[in-house]
Amino acid sequence: MAKISQERKTAYYIGMGMMGIGFILFISVFFSAASLMNDPFGSSMGPSFESPVIGMVLMIVGSIIMNIGAKGTAGSGLLLDPKKAREDMKPFNEAKGGMINDVIGNIDIVDKMTNSCEAREVIKVKCRSCGSLNDEDARFCKSCGKEL
Ligand SMILES: [Zn+2]
Repeated sequence: MAKISQERKTAYYIGMGMMGIGFILFISVFFSAASLMNDPFGSSMGPSFESPVIGMVLMIVGSIIMNIGAKGTAGSGLLLDPKKAREDMKPFNEAKGGMINDVIGNIDIVDKMTNSCEAREVIKVKCRSCGSLNDEDARFCKSCGKEL
């Protein structure tokens, strides 16, 4: 498995943080709208129209950055190592009561599926003389030396 660069892991966590901040900004507009209704002629400037927009942009950009962090830039096809990610997330995970583990667990399932597909592709060829199994691409039997 290829190594995941520190930059990509950082990108993953920055994206996650941006999504969190964006979500808080986004929902905060409902609270400020509610307080404005109670005090329509108050001294406050009213709900800011920027915060929900900034919040949404942050959530979208955050998810994109997280994706890049997890999967690498388009075309690299390199996935974040679930085992390594689980180690990295351990302190966060303990605070959140295993929620992150469930997410990582899903990545694990995908990982296992891909691995089992690869395993099935390894085809062995039976030697006609001695019956021992050889790799598909082998020209000669590794046991008796006869041509396959
Ligand atoms: Zn043989």
